[in-house]
Amino acid sequence: MRAQPPASHFIDGAYVEDAAGTAFESIYPATGEVIARLHAATPAIVEQAVAAAKRAQKDWAAMSPTARGRILKRAAEIMRARNRELSELETLDTGKPIQETIVADPTSGADAFEFFGGIAAVGLNGSHIPLGADFAYTKRVPLGVCVGIGAWNYPQQIACWKGAPALVAGNAMVFKPSENTPLGALKIAEILIEAGLPKGVFNVIQGDRTTGPLLVEHPDVAKVSLTGSVPTGRKVAAAAAGHLKHVTMELGGKSPLIVFDDADLDSAIGGAMLGNFYSTGQVCSNGTRVFVHKAIKEPFLDRLKARTEAIKIGDPLDEATQLGPMVSAAQRAKVLDYIAKGQAEGARLVTGGGIPNHVPGEGTYIQPTVFADVTDTMTIAREEIFGPVMCVLDFEQEDEVLARANASEFGLAAGVFTADMTRAHRMADRLEAGTLWINSYNLCPVEIPFGGSKQSGFGRENALAALEHYSELKTVYVGMGKVEAPY
Ligand code: NAD
Repeated sequence: MRAQPPASHFIDGAYVEDAAGTAFESIYPATGEVIARLHAATPAIVEQAVAAAKRAQKDWAAMSPTARGRILKRAAEIMRARNRELSELETLDTGKPIQETIVADPTSGADAFEFFGGIAAVGLNGSHIPLGADFAYTKRVPLGVCVGIGAWNYPQQIACWKGAPALVAGNAMVFKPSENTPLGALKIAEILIEAGLPKGVFNVIQGDRTTGPLLVEHPDVAKVSLTGSVPTGRKVAAAAAGHLKHVTMELGGKSPLIVFDDADLDSAIGGAMLGNFYSTGQVCSNGTRVFVHKAIKEPFLDRLKARTEAIKIGDPLDEATQLGPMVSAAQRAKVLDYIAKGQAEGARLVTGGGIPNHVPGEGTYIQPTVFADVTDTMTIAREEIFGPVMCVLDFEQEDEVLARANASEFGLAAGVFTADMTRAHRMADRLEAGTLWINSYNLCPVEIPFGGSKQSGFGRENALAALEHYSELKTVYVGMGKVEAPY
């Protein structure tokens, strides 16, 4: 077995197995090969993980933020030193090409540990509030045991983006990766222990949609941070609301990317391709509704078609490969179904649309696909596809495109390509999205807050903002004189 971990779960500093849990296989999407056999968590494993986190959290929170941060920074160094090994594991877990994972996955996880480790000493400071003779002060206190639930597109990054701010704020975490990509988070847990993290502070348990609710409903869990789809977000938020738990929801999108006629065409095409084909289109913030000004539509489509057809599809472990398979056969079937709907509803297929015929084996490959003449009411323009399918829509007026871009239940991200900076900022002001890019797309360094509005979620990951979602303010009022009571 190419990537078999010692056991399915990592609890209290060690690998743990409970063979009574439902058995499942981890499949390498490029070949269909079984690379690990695991078990989903039983209720006993859930109890064990939450209890370990609860036990460890108080002592961890009692350490100074600098001391906690030092451990996270050490974990970042270990991740960077082992980048190749971790990237190969990420490629096996997800099918994403090594060309991407080597620059975008463990490295962005390490960035999170480094960033939050570095700001630990100042990011958690409270404030002093003068009140005449009296005064008050605020403290940032941890929430307790936090649960992280991950999607399958960035398994290592998601574990770190949730783990780093949670831990540095003094919480303990139980993380459940997606059942499609169970391997990366286990390595992160191992590395944190190697870096000196006390046992029980970061735990990983496996499972699917039946395991998640056991964590969300657990009375000792204070907060749930989910990265997943909108329907899952609704269920998790509803379950958490029943217990009035804190939640962060990083959900799906159908983000607009608007290309004005004065844009640098090659940059706009590059941005649109990155925002639709990176990670085989499995990126939440993708700009899947590409609004192109009518005046530049034909040159845009011509060059886009040529560049798309030159994308190198193949073995994800070959460094020359630019596009790997989809994460699973089920996800590919879903995307192919959307492509069929696009054709049936009258969109023009510019390129792609099927399964490439030159890739070997049982891999779940799919062609990068571009549709033109897409209209706002088509299914492919309204629903999140989560695959490499770009929809190009025409527009002529700024107000018109703004209204159409905002006419979506989602509000995760948006992008604008234009040379007119006044217009760019006007659009940035009016587009309804949590993250907006001007003359760039999908860049998410840890220094900037990331998250959605509308149905795409709430709460923010990364930057100082994330600490607010893993801690709460405690206010202390200090009376300096005698208490005067009217009775
Ligand atoms: P999904 O919603 O099917 O599953 C996400 C996670 O939730 C998995 O770990 C799953 O096991 C778990 N889960 C499912 N039902 C649950 C329940 N009732 N209670 C608790 N946990 C439950 O999503 P996916 O298919 O793994 O990922 C793709 C989706 O994730 C897309 O919609 C994508 O846009 C979104 N996503 C969002 C972001 C972001 O930061 N906004 C990032 C990556 C992916």
